[in-house]
This record gives sequence, C-alpha cells and structure tokens, in this order.
Amino acid sequence: MKILILPGDDIGPEIMKPTQKALIKLNDKFALGMEFEEKTIGFKALETEGTTLPDHVLESAKSADGVVLGPIGTFKYPPQEAGGINISAALRMSLDLYANIRPSFTRPGVASVASQMDLVIVRENTEGFYADRTMFAGTGEFMPTEDLAMSLRKITRQGSRRIAVAAFDLARTRRKKVTIVHKANVLKVTDGLFLSVAREVANDYPDVAVDDVIVDAMAALLIRRPESFDVIVATNMFGDILSDEAAELSGGLGLGGSINASAERAIAQAAHGSAPDIAGQGIANPAALMSSAAMLMGWLAQKNGSNALAQASESFVQAIDTALANPANQTPDLGGAGSTESFGDAVVAEINR
Ligand code: NAD
Repeated sequence: MKILILPGDDIGPEIMKPTQKALIKLNDKFALGMEFEEKTIGFKALETEGTTLPDHVLESAKSADGVVLGPIGTFKYPPQEAGGINISAALRMSLDLYANIRPSFTRPGVASVASQMDLVIVRENTEGFYADRTMFAGTGEFMPTEDLAMSLRKITRQGSRRIAVAAFDLARTRRKKVTIVHKANVLKVTDGLFLSVAREVANDYPDVAVDDVIVDAMAALLIRRPESFDVIVATNMFGDILSDEAAELSGGLGLGGSINASAERAIAQAAHGSAPDIAGQGIANPAALMSSAAMLMGWLAQKNGSNALAQASESFVQAIDTALANPANQTPDLGGAGSTESFGDAVVAEINR
C-alpha cells in the first residue's frame, strides 16, 4: 500500500515530520504493509521544477492508495502561468475528491470556547464560490474592465446530491441528524438548488432528522449551541469558513483534522493553512495533520475491509487525544509550552504503550 507524503510550505514540513514518525510506528506495530513515498511540492518545487505541482507528483497522487498533504502557502503563489498551481484545488479536482470531511469536537484537558461539541462538517469540495473550479477551460474569475472584477459560482444537481448523500450516510453512523446550511434566501437559484436537492436526499433517510439553517445564522448558532449539531452539510466556501470556526471553538485551528474523499480515493489534509507567522519556530501544532492521517487510515480500513487499519486508526486517535489531555504536551496555540517535536514524541510514546 503506497502512501504519498507531500510536506507542503511554511509549517508543512515541521508538522509532517512527527506525523510521518507516528505513521511509521503504526505501520510497524499493526503490520500494515504501508510504503511511504515523499515528494516535493510548493515553493521548493517552484524553485527547482518551475511549478508548485509537478506532473510527476500528480501522477504519484493518482496511483497512491492515500496521500498525506501538508498545508500550502497558496496566497503567496505566483499566477498559474508562472507555475503557481493551487495544489489543493488541483488534487481535489483531478482526483474528484468531492467530500471534505471536517470533524470538530471538544476533548478532556483541552481548553475550548465550546463547553461541549461533537460535530462533522461535510463540505462540498469541487464547485461553489471557488472560481478555479467552475470552468472547463479558463477561470470563473475575470475582469471585463480594469474597474470591474467578477466571479462565477457553480452549483450542480449532481454535486449537491453526492455531497448530501455523503452527509446522510455519515449521520447514520453517528447521532442521526443533518443540518443543511445555505443562503437560499438571497442566492435563490444556486442555493435554492442545493437546498432542494439536499431535502430530496433527506427523503431517502427517514431515520435521520434534518433541518436547515441560513449560513449567517449558522455562524452565530455554532457559538451559541454547538452541542446541538451532529452533521452539517454545506457548499464549498460556507463549509470552509464554518469549519475554521468550529475548529477554533474546539480549542484551535491546530486541532482541525480533515480528509478530502470520494469512494475511491482520499487525501489527508489539515483544515488550517500554512501558518507563515509561526513557521520555522518549531511550535506549530501537529495534531490537526496527525488527526487527518488517522482519518485517512480509517477511510482506508473501510475501503479495504481491514481490521488492522481500523485498529491503527483508532490507536492513532487515542494517542493524539491522550497526548493532548496533558497540558505539559500542548503547543503554545493551546496555551502550553510544548513544541511540535515534543508533542509528536508524546503521541508516538502513547502509540508504543
Ligand atoms: P492559517 O490557517 O495558516 O493561519 C491562521 C492562524 O492560525 C495563524 O495565526 C496561524 O499561526 C494559526 N495556525 C494555523 N495552523 C496552526 C497550527 N497547526 N498550529 C498552531 N497555529 C496554527 O491561515 P492564513 O494565515 O489565512 O493562511 C496562510 C496561508 O495558508 C495562505 O497562503 C493561505 O492561502 C494558505 N491556506 C492553505 C490551506 C491548505 O493548505 N489547506 C488552507 C487555508 C489557507
């Protein structure tokens, strides 16, 4: 089983190191037969190969059983013509990873704004407001004149249906409740379509409770009563923004694990960005990327019907949570004095236990 490791930019290589160390330990302990291949992307690849995402990396991602992708510093990338490819978008689109699964939950020992929360945001990944994903050729952002910039939003029936199915399937394995987030009061056509398709899908799941909330109210309700939500399904940008909010409510962005998935493929990728403000200091929290890698193992376990992978995933999650529960291990974003390395070592020690 080939796992492709792509460290990314800024804090990416720092948080990938302990994540890979933990994966290697789990691979040995549970005899998973994983082989790791590491490739360079982002600014380093731009320097040496003229593009942030070389073709051979994309090919490796397509042939790998799973990918662990570090955060990337997209904001500072040059235009696409100069090699600045948005790696997240390119991988999600070319592998058709339409479901971005982003859990957020409170943990014992971790200070959080929310007193009790256990929810999953299921975010559509391949259309919506992200103009780099709306067109067959060219981009959905354009400037008809130098004083007018425009952006197109794309919502399809098929895209709305498959993300709603992913959310309702997930809800069946949890507390059986789905909240559909939309802005159909204003975006009556696009979010109107998303909402009506999601409601249609709900009819196939009579055992799952469903409600819908307008996105601006959702931003407030997440703070007011986060414990009341189970699975939240949203279009691309709304899901992106709300999942950062949810991660922060659970203690911090450094806790937000996620996978980008379809039935065939998955990429582990933390919800947060490349955090250039703390890069190089050895203090970035690796918990989000580690949790993402644990989710990937869980996804692989389900796909392959593998008990060993399921146990490894469970062991990884428990090790992360146990390490986080001790304030001495926590990195500064959580209020602790731990480092990226010392937190990673604490997780590996738990896996070894
Ligand atoms: P960010 O998520 O990188 O950082 C926001 C804040 O959270 C910063 O103060 C940062 O220090 C903190 N933070 C984030 N991850 C942390 C961690 N693991 N440990 C401790 N603190 C952490 O968002 P940003 O500053 O808006 O974006 C920085 C870059 O990341 C931009 O180039 C942006 O385009 C890119 N980005 C990439 C992804 C991705 O790769 N999936 C996602 C979002 C943003």
